[in-house]
Amino acid sequence: MEFPKGHWLLDQKINKLIFLNLGIAIAYIVIVNISLKFISLPGNIASVWLPAAMTLTLVISQGISVFPGIFLGSIFGISTALLELTPPLSIFNFIFLNVICAGLNCLQPFITHYLIQRFAKYQNIFNHVNGVFIFIIAAIFSPAVSATIGIGAHCLTGVINWNNYGISWITWWSASALGHLIFTPFLLLFNSFRKQKFQYRGIEKLFLITIFIFIVWLAFIKNYDLEYIFLPLLIWSVFRLGNLFSSLLVSLVAIVAIVATANGYGNFVKNTPHESLVILQSFIGVFSITSLILSAVVDEKRVAQSSLEKTLNTLELQVRERTAALQQSEAQLDGFFSSASIGMSIVDEQLRYMRINEVLAEINGTSVADHLGKTVQEILPNLYPAIEPFYKQVLLTGKPFLNQEITGEVPSQPGIKLTWLVSFFPIFNMDNIPCRVGVVVIDISDRKKIEIQLQKQARIDGLTQIANRRYFNEIFLIEWQRCIRNQQPLALILCDVDYFKPYNDTYGHPMGDECLIQIAKALSGNIQRSTDLVARYGGEEFVVLLTNTDREGALHIANMIRDQIHKLNIAHKNSLVSNHITASIGVCVSIPTIYHQPDQLLSTADQALYQAKQEGRDRIIIKMMDNESVLI
Ligand code: GH3
Ligand code: MG
Ligand code: MG
Repeated sequence: MEFPKGHWLLDQKINKLIFLNLGIAIAYIVIVNISLKFISLPGNIASVWLPAAMTLTLVISQGISVFPGIFLGSIFGISTALLELTPPLSIFNFIFLNVICAGLNCLQPFITHYLIQRFAKYQNIFNHVNGVFIFIIAAIFSPAVSATIGIGAHCLTGVINWNNYGISWITWWSASALGHLIFTPFLLLFNSFRKQKFQYRGIEKLFLITIFIFIVWLAFIKNYDLEYIFLPLLIWSVFRLGNLFSSLLVSLVAIVAIVATANGYGNFVKNTPHESLVILQSFIGVFSITSLILSAVVDEKRVAQSSLEKTLNTLELQVRERTAALQQSEAQLDGFFSSASIGMSIVDEQLRYMRINEVLAEINGTSVADHLGKTVQEILPNLYPAIEPFYKQVLLTGKPFLNQEITGEVPSQPGIKLTWLVSFFPIFNMDNIPCRVGVVVIDISDRKKIEIQLQKQARIDGLTQIANRRYFNEIFLIEWQRCIRNQQPLALILCDVDYFKPYNDTYGHPMGDECLIQIAKALSGNIQRSTDLVARYGGEEFVVLLTNTDREGALHIANMIRDQIHKLNIAHKNSLVSNHITASIGVCVSIPTIYHQPDQLLSTADQALYQAKQEGRDRIIIKMMDNESVLI
């Protein structure tokens, strides 16, 4: 975050940095002195250079902002040692050597940190085998650079003889590298241990520490060759107690070994300091590298295991959630099925009932339990041929059939024709293939009955109970088309009661109605074929449609009608043609063609009727469509 100059937060940050670096400088001086005074082998040879561990830890955890502290600490820390040199250094050499060493003390952790950052892109390098390898290489490499320059500077200033360059280089390099390897992992892990899952296992740790102290006592005080026993203890710690505790153990073993050897205790004390150094360093080096690598292996395994466990837990959770969702939707479906007022069922690919509600079970005439597992054919043998194609098509195409009107019988009501409105719809499996058929059934039998009745009423004349003019028009058109197709003659008879107005006037309207009813009956009585139709065309006018009837046939029927009306012998004293009811009849016969209109047949028959009236009534006139007329 950027702060403007003089901002109190900026000041606070700078103050913090100054205090941190001062702290680092003081700590550095203290640690240099510890390293030199307490844990060095005879001749001031440091087996492990603690400041190297400190600077690396600081740079890795804090970045380059700690350089001033390191530099300052280094200047003061090393000055005391440089001032004690005999013969004393010249001012120039003193400053030169001091600055070079201080610079190298910054450069060394910088190189290590850079290499780790560049090649190990893990958040915690000690949890990964690769990370550990890169850490080890970087921790070993950077002291090689600083040793090369640093020992060179010591030789240049005459502090070290060029002949001793090699041995001095190895001492510098090995002490710094071991410092990195032994103490930095512990310090870094300790620094970040709050973020990790901390394993307590206090009693186990106490037990291990106790054994550890016992072995230390045996190995370094009692001089038994028992150092190798630290290795199984370390492996125990790595596998059971995590890398922080293990690195602590490594640090403790190293410190004990160093302090003991420096003070002449233990098996690492050999004839010369350099012999002691080699054996001590190789022991703690092997010890720390083994611990680091083993810890990383165990951690990687632990991480893999925990991620597997996490995945398993997530999966288990998902399964539980899905199961709950499934149960909920099952319950919803159950509720839907049982509370619906329409019939519902689901059948599988073999058309076996998987689910059915009580409404549909009742329609089918048996219980819900009786349906389950049985096929549609077993439950509805009579209906099966009519409904099977729908089921099969839905399963085949995955397309629904909605609102199909199906009429038939169910076993529980034999002989009764019922009608249902049925919708068939597909249910798909995970691969989007239709595997079940859902069926919704509404019983529309009562509605159907009313519908048929209404349809019938719409076609029937209320007074005479024969077909009305509307129905006649419908049938006339159908028959006209059929006769065109079949090239058959179609005959039309129009029949009008003579002097019906005077009849009404004389006998009253109700009597007129009765007369019309009688005439309608007489007309219907003459029609035998189901394809023929008698209708009331209007008022006291009737029409007879005769399919596939030629001129002779039509005239025969017309004559019979006329005779029947005569035979009714309905008195009509005010008729000018007879003393009972008569009718005039116009007939037209034609083989319809696409060049004619049905109206032409009607109007020609009407013209014939008109002519019959004109020519005196109570007679039949037949006219052909080309206007030729014949009086019968
Ligand atoms: P024409 O011989 O020329 O046919 O004489 P008409 O009196 O029959 O002729 P018109 O068409 O003038 O009269 C038809 C009468 O039929 C008039 C009407 O009162 C009567 N009529 C029509 N429909 C009904 C009906 O439903 N009931 C009764 N009672 N009379 C009807
Ligand atoms: Mg009339
Ligand atoms: Mg009339």
